[in-house]
Amino acid sequence: MQTHYDIIIIWAWAAGLFTSIESPVSLRKLILEKNKNPGVKVLLSGWERANVSNIDIEVERDYFGQNKKALIWMFKKFNQYDIMSFFAENGINIVEEDRGRLILESWDSRELLELLLKKSKENNTNILCNSPVVDVMKIGEKFEVITGDGIRYTSDKLVITSGGKSFSQVGTTWDGYKWAENFWHTILTPHRWLCWLVSKKDVSEISWVSCDLKLEIISNISKKSIYTEFWPLLFTHFWVSGPIIFNGAVAIWEYINSLDLTDFVSLLDFSKIPENEKTDYIERNFIKENITLKLTFTLEKIPKRVVAFFELNEENIEIFLELQDYRTWKEAKVTWGWISIDELTNALESKLFPGLYFAGEILDITGKTWWFNLQFSWTSWHIVGKNL
Ligand SMILES: Cc1cc2nc3c(=O)[nH]c(=O)nc-3n(C[C@H](O)[C@H](O)[C@H](O)COP(=O)(O)OP(=O)(O)OC[C@H]3O[C@@H](n4cnc5c(N)ncnc54)[C@H](O)[C@@H]3O)c2cc1C
Repeated sequence: MQTHYDIIIIWAWAAGLFTSIESPVSLRKLILEKNKNPGVKVLLSGWERANVSNIDIEVERDYFGQNKKALIWMFKKFNQYDIMSFFAENGINIVEEDRGRLILESWDSRELLELLLKKSKENNTNILCNSPVVDVMKIGEKFEVITGDGIRYTSDKLVITSGGKSFSQVGTTWDGYKWAENFWHTILTPHRWLCWLVSKKDVSEISWVSCDLKLEIISNISKKSIYTEFWPLLFTHFWVSGPIIFNGAVAIWEYINSLDLTDFVSLLDFSKIPENEKTDYIERNFIKENITLKLTFTLEKIPKRVVAFFELNEENIEIFLELQDYRTWKEAKVTWGWISIDELTNALESKLFPGLYFAGEILDITGKTWWFNLQFSWTSWHIVGKNL
């Protein structure tokens, strides 16, 4: 059995596939994926319609991360127009929806996965699923990758795109974090991102009702609004969701990080909180005590159930929801934090371990709303692929 390859890529969603497609055909590539099937996440993306990018991208407005300025040179190398050309050249039609969202015309993310699998295999790539990587190391000039069944693969180059720790039911379980530490890389505290907000008030009576409304996120400290948006909000059991809440959660995070929390933190009990969860614990306690959602309804636009539930009328079209928490890591769509880009070259190659590359969500740049994340991933995967 062949165990030495020119390149090993850890994981088989668009990341591994696109990176392998963009790399020279002469190089023998191996993709190792822990899931039984490749691309589990691609099939879920964009409610299975795959929101592949956005036509209107502004780095400062749409992305997050201390190194997001790197996106200026990265998008010069590969951006939304390049990924649209890639799909067009390969017979996949993309349509533009509201707010510039680029979606598969077929509304079927399988189409995307099948294309990437076909082109990857045509480009000298062997894809092994059911192959969870349990350890990686560099011995001399070779990288050694050990899978759960004890097989040792070696390669001249290694690409780690194993994602974050959010939505772990699709295999993203924090593994890349350990390996990156093995290679002496700085790990920025990971944050659950694109996550729903839990209200103290039980809204289960109006579950799955969506309302067009004005959302204001109020600081109980300044009594001022830190975020205002008009957009549908979805009530679900005891939490509120929808892109309006994703964006709102980002604004809350920006607000929290603009404050001096010394006094607030000094009152918290960290005795049972692991070191790498302290930041998460501070944020969760902060929103519980200091953030309120103000919802302003337009009576004629909302379902009777909501009018009755909140006892709304001409005089009373506003309600205030106090927050209890963020939803769990398992429900967060993306992880922000991780590997600092300034420890990588412009080829996203490690400055500490030549031949080691990182791409995708494992890097410390993330989209403010989910439809900017895949574009960042396509771009980083392209850059790695072209430099292998
Ligand atoms: C439900 C959902 C829908 C989304 N929809 C969209 C969308 O429409 N548009 C958009 O822009 N973004 C969307 N996102 C975000 C987007 O999917 C991610 O930003 C993107 O997938 C990141 O890609 P990645 O390759 O970096 O890592 P991930 O997609 O997180 O993948 C990591 C992969 O690595 C594998 N892996 C991890 N550890 C190991 C190991 N030890 N051994 C082997 N394999 C391993 C995992 O099995 C997994 O397959 C969505 C996210 C979710 C959860």
